[in-house]
Amino acid sequence: MIAPANAIKPIAMPNISDRFNLVSRQLRQTEIEQGRQPGSVRLLAVSKYHSVSDIRHLAALGQRHFGESYLQDALTKMAECEDLNLTWHFIGRIQKNKCGALASHFHWVHGIDRLIIAQRLSRQRPANMPPLNLCIQVNISDEPAKGGIPPDPTGLLELSTAISQLPQVRLRGLMGMAAAGATAAEQTAAFGQLHTLFAGLNRAGFGLDTLSMGMSGDYPQAIAAGSTLVRIGRALFGPPAEPRPNHQSAKL
Ligand SMILES: *Cc1c(COP(=O)(O)O)cnc(C)c1O
Repeated sequence: MIAPANAIKPIAMPNISDRFNLVSRQLRQTEIEQGRQPGSVRLLAVSKYHSVSDIRHLAALGQRHFGESYLQDALTKMAECEDLNLTWHFIGRIQKNKCGALASHFHWVHGIDRLIIAQRLSRQRPANMPPLNLCIQVNISDEPAKGGIPPDPTGLLELSTAISQLPQVRLRGLMGMAAAGATAAEQTAAFGQLHTLFAGLNRAGFGLDTLSMGMSGDYPQAIAAGSTLVRIGRALFGPPAEPRPNHQSAKL
């Protein structure tokens, strides 16, 4: 399932181009192995700990979608990359008082787990911009510290119905994370649960196209379970350049 180590050039440490090529190849290979349509899994490059120069490097290789978790850092990088017309996803914790900035700068916000956040984003989305794309986060890892609504079909249906009625946002799908340290079997079970909830909403007519699940450590399992968007940080950029002690949710 994982490409052999000899796919990396010998001696030299892999640079960002090597990593991008390796991850892209693994994505395509996993799609084929799992009987998924080629190109049906989108790569979101999670650049939260990485520089504008790394982002520019990946953009030059054809990467369009980038994910950030810390609003101030993200706004700085987005301004510096404005000429590239990239698509920006916010994947961090959402604070109520940050909804205005999120609504006016991002294309996507993952991690919606309360109606009030979606209402604020809709209200604060500038009228001259297309609707903001949203994913509801579902807590499939059973870890109370992680965000997300419980994996309960009734509650999820209620939240999805309410969000679908908001004018300036568009519900695109669901987002989830397997527990840190989960076995491959546990990852598969958690991703399978999210896929079942996603399929249930689509049977109810929601027309969702995005199942955001899978990170550097578990994306093959997520693709096997039906992911349409994998959020990859370390496998693309390498380990974070410097520790970020002021970022409490940082998982290094
Ligand atoms: C940091 C982060 C990722 C990327 O994690 P890696 O293990 O570096 O691939 C994906 N999703 C979310 C929500 C994150 O915060």
